[in-house]
This record gives sequence, C-alpha cells and structure tokens, in this order.
Amino acid sequence: MEAIYIPQLLKAPERKEEIKFQGPISGLDTLTPVQGIISVRHGGTFLEVSAQAETIITLTCDRCLQNYNYRLSIDTSEIIWLEEQKVVADRFLSEKEVSLEDLSETLPPNGHFQPDAWLYEQLYLAMPMRQVCGQDCQGADTPVDVTEPKIDSRWSSLAALKEQLSKNYDL
Ligand SMILES: [Zn+2]
Repeated sequence: MEAIYIPQLLKAPERKEEIKFQGPISGLDTLTPVQGIISVRHGGTFLEVSAQAETIITLTCDRCLQNYNYRLSIDTSEIIWLEEQKVVADRFLSEKEVSLEDLSETLPPNGHFQPDAWLYEQLYLAMPMRQVCGQDCQGADTPVDVTEPKIDSRWSSLAALKEQLSKNYDL
C-alpha cells in the first residue's frame, strides 16, 4: 500500500480516503493475505483512521506446543494528532510524563501516513496473549510416548519464539 500524503487528503471528497486491500503486510507472517478496508479522514488537527481487516496466522499453542491456525481480525479506529515534530519534541522536553507511545500517535501535518505500518501495529496488538489451540487441548500434561520426539516440538516452539523476537527487532 502506498503512503498517503497527508495534505492531499484535504483535497479529497469529504477529506477522506478509503483503501480496500488484499495482500501481505510487511513483517507479519500470515497464512492468508491480509484483507480488509482502511479509511483515513483528515479532521484538521488530526487524522481519524479506522480499519476492518482479517487474516489467518499460525500460532504455537502454549499448552501442547503444537502449531494451530488462528483467525486474526480487527475492527478498530484511532486518532492521530497532527503536530510538527518540533512541537512534539519541545513538549517531550518540557513534560516528563509524555511517553514514547504518545509520540508515536503524532504525525507532522505535511508528512505521510503509512497504512502498512499502522495495520501491522493494530494486527500485532490484536494477537492473543494466551495462545491455546482449542478448548479441548490436552496440554502437556498428557503422558507423552517416550519415542515421540518431544524435544523437537519444544525446539520448534523456541525457534518460533526466536523468529518472532528477531522480527520485532527488525522493526
Ligand atoms: Zn494445544
């Protein structure tokens, strides 16, 4: 998806742009393309961004360590304040309670909005904290056949975790 030049939105009908999409989101390992719709409205001093999107991702069960597919969907909206970076920096220096999180919800009025990055963030936040393959998951308490390569599934879980971590750091 192409970045949206923020001042351009002021010339759009209703100061709004709507994008339907279907495809991969950079940095997010999904089984199916991410599809949905994102709309960005210019509210003068802020952008109102809303999106519905869904995809299927492969997760590793916390209990039995097996991989399973999970339908990840979002229906969310967010206000992004338009402020010059200098103003933001000044505020950051004068007010200690301004967190990094606040800074990320601000864009310069003459800057670009990156739909991909925003969607990545929303989808990432929507991932379940507790990952369980299903209600009938027997978990790791089930007696495991000694010949079963138990260690392998642990290793694959570790590998998946490692991969996830390295991806996070790539951001
Ligand atoms: Zn399970």
